[in-house]
Amino acid sequence: MTFDDFKLNRQLLNAVAEAGYEQPTPIQVQAIPLAMAGHDVLGIAQTGTGKTAAYLLPVLMKTKFAQGQHPRVLILAPTRELVMQIDAAIAELGKYTDIRHLALYGGIGPKTQIEAVQKGVDILVATPGRFMDIYLRGEIGVKQLNTMVMDEADKMMDMGFMPQIRKILEVIPVKRQNMLFSATFPAKVEELSYEFLEFPMRVEVTPQASTADMVTQKLYAVPNFKTKINLLAHLLSDEAASRVIVFARSKETADNIYKFLARKVVADDRIRVLHANKGQNTRINSMEAFKEGNIRVLVTTDVTARGIDVNEVSHVINFDVPLIYEDYVHRIGRTGRANRSGEAVTFMTIAEEYHVAKIEKIIRMPIPRESIPAAVEIPETPFDEQQAYLREIDNQRKKEDPTFKGAFHDKKGVPTKGRPTPPRGKSPQNPKAPSAKFKPGSPRRRKT
Ligand code: AMP
Repeated sequence: MTFDDFKLNRQLLNAVAEAGYEQPTPIQVQAIPLAMAGHDVLGIAQTGTGKTAAYLLPVLMKTKFAQGQHPRVLILAPTRELVMQIDAAIAELGKYTDIRHLALYGGIGPKTQIEAVQKGVDILVATPGRFMDIYLRGEIGVKQLNTMVMDEADKMMDMGFMPQIRKILEVIPVKRQNMLFSATFPAKVEELSYEFLEFPMRVEVTPQASTADMVTQKLYAVPNFKTKINLLAHLLSDEAASRVIVFARSKETADNIYKFLARKVVADDRIRVLHANKGQNTRINSMEAFKEGNIRVLVTTDVTARGIDVNEVSHVINFDVPLIYEDYVHRIGRTGRANRSGEAVTFMTIAEEYHVAKIEKIIRMPIPRESIPAAVEIPETPFDEQQAYLREIDNQRKKEDPTFKGAFHDKKGVPTKGRPTPPRGKSPQNPKAPSAKFKPGSPRRRKT
């Protein structure tokens, strides 16, 4: 199948050819004809599969040219980075049309965005919050909207955007074409799809939460933070790690990793740190520099994990195991795109074994274990750090404990009745737990 087989116009075919797309990807083969026939589409596809063009080409085809003042298409996405990236894709694929498009996102004042809306726009790409903000100021006419797309719906649900999305659905015309794309299909997204889509055609390119085929995964069991740092430095000493994203659990850890690497391992103009505390401009500049290949190492927290299209990432390194397990899939989706192979490396302390087991369940495969190379120094684990790990393990055990679950998970309707209480101290989940942690007489957790 070629792009010529879709009934796209010449302007779009030229732009597609110039973007270097020779053949449609599987999600494009499936979704484009359905979307062009006017169906609502439910697309389950990870970033890197070509899903953006799968909905943009039909949208651009339908929008055709600039018309009137008010937008006809609304595309919602969870983060400003993704919004900007979709907007850039419209610029690329729509370059031979006069279609006006605009990105609306938070983190900067709305004034410039409002002025741009007032100039007239055909396609709006927005985060739900910022769209609603500008709409409520009376600046967006929604009566002409005839197409709506939600991208990375699972991430939008995780980020708690449902209330805003419901409000948006209340104010826009009922008669419209809808498309919903999501990397995974958890219950929340299914629920959203019922509210949002009408008789949708479902297209899916990878089984739910499957990992990209081209990615080699590696897992290192690492005793402590210092060893993680040493191992990271060792991996980066290999020039093959030419474009690397390092994910850390917290902003503090990301900052610490950055400081260490910039001081000792990577020339400081080749490394950046990116997280929510960084200003909007810094974030944009760092992303740009990384995309252009001017930066070798990007240290970050979750903010860049999803949807960001950075080609030719050679390595994704999970300095910490992600606690939102599906993020593992999204993160390693950063690498190995467009038929290039990549490596996804994860560091795991004893306190993270629990989370890795959960991730392996989601991806339905064990992550291959590697031994720490001999060149990597493995310092002793400081007492406090060891205690912190043990405390975490205790908490994990408590989570698995039915009495504890009853106190905190009632909302989910998990029945607690009839489940056996596991013995205190050692357990299959936690054979190393020192029994002394549970002092007699000190209740593990109050029920009220
Ligand atoms: P996406 O899954 O939309 O984030 O797209 C991932 C990357 O694949 C982007 O860099 C696109 O420009 C690129 N891409 C999309 N469609 C094709 C195609 N048919 N052939 C080659 N590359 C593509």
